[in-house]
Amino acid sequence: MNRVHSLLCSGLICLVTLVGNNGCASVRQALGQQLVSVETEVELGQKMALQIEAENTVMRDAQLQRYVRHLMQPLIDQAWGDRPGIDYRITVLDDPTQVNAFALPGGPMYVYTGLLALAEDEAELAGVLAHELGHVVARHSANRLGTQFGVQLLMGVTLGEAPEELAQMVADAAGAGAMARFSRDDERQADGYGVKYTIAAGYDPAGLMSLFEKIGRLGGGKGDSLERFMASHPATDERITRIQKQISREPSAGVRNGPRYQEMTAGLH
Ligand code: ZN
Repeated sequence: MNRVHSLLCSGLICLVTLVGNNGCASVRQALGQQLVSVETEVELGQKMALQIEAENTVMRDAQLQRYVRHLMQPLIDQAWGDRPGIDYRITVLDDPTQVNAFALPGGPMYVYTGLLALAEDEAELAGVLAHELGHVVARHSANRLGTQFGVQLLMGVTLGEAPEELAQMVADAAGAGAMARFSRDDERQADGYGVKYTIAAGYDPAGLMSLFEKIGRLGGGKGDSLERFMASHPATDERITRIQKQISREPSAGVRNGPRYQEMTAGLH
């Protein structure tokens, strides 16, 4: 069980912070919402996206980019119901060594080809992307950055006045930084949205679990970024149990679309 659990927060960058501050999460969240306007959140996300795309290789395969956008659209349609007016968009980054996906404030989301290659069907990828959508819907990044840096500094970053802080935010968002990103409460909330969107969009919610198992099997590998995540951010039994409970409460006959997924991602193997 430990292996299965440990992958939950590990490779997916949605790391659980086990520093004992979860009781403060709701207060922190409320404070962040007061501090950071939607305008600042969106501008900050755009600034970070420019940096992410300058530091990474955006996948040149236009057909693959379209396919992942197409796969994600039904999930985005669901997210609009909870948080309208946001330009949710997914971009594939070409790095087979990164088994990861992440979201920036205000809508931009990224998935690495390493994760696309690991997933074996649309339901597995949809489960992860829906979780990332949940972080955007709940404004987790904006709230955390607002309380960590203060709104004045965030506004400075949007104006290009704080390059070092921008670099730190980008590194943290992409999983390369020193900060664990989200609290356990944030992860719980993103899981809730994610499973809901996955089911409502017509994907098999069990895909998330089978992807977690694959990531868990990878965890014993060499000293790569994935293993570092797993060592420093063990997942909780509670999280996986809760996801399974939510899935069992909302039985569905969603699709997995394995053959189509494998055809579209064949070039990554
Ligand atoms: Zn997460």
